[in-house]
Amino acid sequence: MAAAPSIRPLVFLGPPGAGKGTQARSVAERLGVPQISTGDMFRDHAARGTDLGRQAKAVMERGELVSDDIVVGMVAERIARPDCANGFILDGFPRTVPQAERLEALLAQSGRPSVLAVNFNLSYTNLVRRLTGRRTCVLCGEIYNIYFRPPKAEGRCDRDGGELTQRADDREEVIRERLSAYERQTQPLIDFYRQRRALLDVDAEAPPEELTRRLLALLAEEKQSAGSAA
Ligand code: AMP
Repeated sequence: MAAAPSIRPLVFLGPPGAGKGTQARSVAERLGVPQISTGDMFRDHAARGTDLGRQAKAVMERGELVSDDIVVGMVAERIARPDCANGFILDGFPRTVPQAERLEALLAQSGRPSVLAVNFNLSYTNLVRRLTGRRTCVLCGEIYNIYFRPPKAEGRCDRDGGELTQRADDREEVIRERLSAYERQTQPLIDFYRQRRALLDVDAEAPPEELTRRLLALLAEEKQSAGSAA
């Protein structure tokens, strides 16, 4: 059987609440590559009570960033696994320029293609509504929004009836800190990838299904132009 064609590793960039997580899941499923969310990995560690989880939990509850060494080590181990051989989508990583530089080095060392970053653009007001309205199914991880995408039955997942919960860091005071951490530390990443001509801008105000279609079309276009330039 022929090996699946590999795609450039994708990095989804944008403020918390821009829909990166939802889109990373849908696009990854359509492309047949894993979606890697560092936030989900930390939440999983915290739920299991591992050492890493205990360290990350306090930092996350303040809306601050976990240290670069911890997060880079965790990502390096994850992308070395066989399911990442044909590509992967990173969601929530890198968050700082040093993290992006270390990712670049990791990919170069293992002879993999460089990253293509996708930048999600959204207004501040919509971001706050998306974050305060976000609810996640405890069983399957499906994401809802009480304003934009409510479940059929209040507080229950449409797929499996699982309880819908609000993340501890989606409270308004923590949101303000998360958005300002984004401005300070993540915004420079956009310049980092733009300078490398490795940035695609998307208007993230569109409804989720429409946005997935646009993203897949953009990525196909990019792949075609990269192929014809080679
Ligand atoms: P997220 O689900 O991506 O919003 O991440 C939730 C929290 O996990 C963040 O507020 C950080 O505390 C931590 N976190 C996730 N990814 C990173 C990262 N790349 N660097 C540092 N901290 C991170």
